[in-house]
Amino acid sequence: MLKKINHIGIAVKDIEAAIEFYKKLGLELEAVEVVESQKVKVAFIPIGEVRIELLEATSNNSPIAKFIEKKGEGIHHLAFGTDNLQDRLDEIKTKGIKLIDEIPRKGAHNANIAFLHPKSTCGVLVELCEENK
Ligand code: ZN
Repeated sequence: MLKKINHIGIAVKDIEAAIEFYKKLGLELEAVEVVESQKVKVAFIPIGEVRIELLEATSNNSPIAKFIEKKGEGIHHLAFGTDNLQDRLDEIKTKGIKLIDEIPRKGAHNANIAFLHPKSTCGVLVELCEENK
């Protein structure tokens, strides 16, 4: 089952400027990494049990570049933490929810991730995230 909110993904144009903003609020940067498969640079800023995940496009055809072009900077997705991600996806699919990823893929932090289709989620892009310990 879903356990908690794992992170909140925020699309930004300038990840360094965004990191500075969160540092000014007193939060600390945990790590920055590039996820080649999704053409994004990702920065994690923990707050309590949740992380803010800043996402900057590394290419014009990155999904994040397209998102910013259409909607501007802002909240991009909500990620729920789960165990047994493949089982969750199979189960959710039987309930008629559309999936973007039927099979988990690798995200930042070496986590397995999968997105649900916004058409099935009332407008919010939802990610399920299984952290590998
Ligand atoms: Zn995410």
